[in-house]
Amino acid sequence: MSRIEAPRSEDAVVTGDLTGRLLAGLPAEAVLTDPGVTASYSHDMASFCPAGAPAVVVLPRTVEQVQHVMRVATELRVPVVPQGARSGLSGAANATDGCIVLSLTKMDRILEISPVDRIAVVEPGVINATLSHAVEEHGLYYPPDPSSWEMCTIGGNIGTGSGGLCCVKYGVTAEYVLGLDVVLADGRLMSTGRRTAKGVAGYDLTRLFVGSEGSLGIVVRAVLALRPKPPQQLVLAAEFPSATAACAAVCRIMEGGHVPSLLELMDRTTVKAVNDLAHMGLPETTEALLLAAFDTPHPAADLAAVGELCEAAGATQVVPADDAAESELLLQARRLSLTALEAVKGTTMIDDVCVPRSRLGAMLEGVERIAAKYGLTIGVCAHAGDGNTHPTVCFDAQDADESRRARESFDEIMALGLELGGTITGEHGVGVLKKEWLAREIGPVGVEMQRAVKQAFDPLGILNPGKVL
Ligand SMILES: Cc1cc2nc3c(=O)[nH]c(=O)nc-3n(C[C@H](O)[C@H](O)[C@H](O)COP(=O)(O)OP(=O)(O)OC[C@H]3O[C@@H](n4cnc5c(N)ncnc54)[C@H](O)[C@@H]3O)c2cc1C
Repeated sequence: MSRIEAPRSEDAVVTGDLTGRLLAGLPAEAVLTDPGVTASYSHDMASFCPAGAPAVVVLPRTVEQVQHVMRVATELRVPVVPQGARSGLSGAANATDGCIVLSLTKMDRILEISPVDRIAVVEPGVINATLSHAVEEHGLYYPPDPSSWEMCTIGGNIGTGSGGLCCVKYGVTAEYVLGLDVVLADGRLMSTGRRTAKGVAGYDLTRLFVGSEGSLGIVVRAVLALRPKPPQQLVLAAEFPSATAACAAVCRIMEGGHVPSLLELMDRTTVKAVNDLAHMGLPETTEALLLAAFDTPHPAADLAAVGELCEAAGATQVVPADDAAESELLLQARRLSLTALEAVKGTTMIDDVCVPRSRLGAMLEGVERIAAKYGLTIGVCAHAGDGNTHPTVCFDAQDADESRRARESFDEIMALGLELGGTITGEHGVGVLKKEWLAREIGPVGVEMQRAVKQAFDPLGILNPGKVL
């Protein structure tokens, strides 16, 4: 990892001063300065993203403590990098030299679950799966379900605007965030949005914060929309002789008006990687495995209809799961995909290109061409129903030439996504990894307006500097 410059990081005198000031409003155990410990907070899970050395890591437990941190940071002009579980895949939570890492993981209380209002009110450090299990006990459902749901936090999900497996039916994080409490750069507390079913008072600042990657303020509380818990979903697995045929099936399913609760794709490389890692017995002769699920009252009938569409698109095998347990095993296999691909050569660069569903086939054919051109293994798993692909470049980081080819192919995949009318990131965010690509997607006027927004919220540029823009 190389280092990047922070707006201000003068010397140990400043660090000493900084620590002393922080300790005036935080308990000693919430302020970490041991370099061996602070270094472990320096980066998220993305490769090729520069990360600096934090001056200090703070672990507040209250809103007032977060306000104190931001007041000190503003006064001393020290950059602040908010962090959740650091499971991000774009370097958005990476430290800058001399920064305060503001870890929200200790603010992990579920404050309220209201079945009548169908909302949950939570602190940012709540783990996604913890919230999901807690609301289930009330017959409710919090849909956004990144594959990392057992480790990532709601604050991080809001920071990245994360998606997941069931988003094809239920939508992404942005659709579930109704209101926020945010500590601004200067320490003021702002409430946005609502806890009502409707509300259009003023600009939608809540939505602005979703996906802002910690660059506009610190989320300290969130009001989240919940849904009634749907029936248990049942999964079908279909094997295809090519990724193109699997993509054609996706198009037929969507065109046919079906509403699957999940429509995921794993290519041959991914299937093999998952088998190698977890011995799951997935079919390795298939070029692409499509998983479709329904959580309707009669999922078997829906699966039969979708199975026929898969066969019409060329599926060689269509196998509905026998029961919920077998369905869950298939989902586990899909959730393991990125971790399994990492084990192939030790390091991965994970693209997150989302294209219109109608272009999914062209996207996957292009990725195959790019893999052949650079002589690399690129496994693809995809939230196929959303057109959101994760072409994952597997490489040996010790091999300089392979690392260079990995970076180049990673970029070429983003260029292909833009050519096909897509976006460089469907759910992982821009961070530092895709910063140069943002302008290519949104253009100079878009960049100018985004900078104006950043300036309004963070005039001193201390909030997660060097990320997004
Ligand atoms: C194996 C694996 C599978 C994954 N699968 C998916 C997937 O299916 N879908 C998906 O979308 N992502 C996925 N991810 C990526 C990652 O888990 C998500 O981006 C997740 O939302 C990050 O949450 P986190 O708590 O780890 O946040 P972090 O990585 O710590 O932070 C993410 C961003 O949010 C900001 N942030 C964190 N907390 C706050 C706060 N309280 N206030 C303001 N800003 C804040 C940070 O500054 C940073 O910019 C996966 C990652 C892994 C490792």
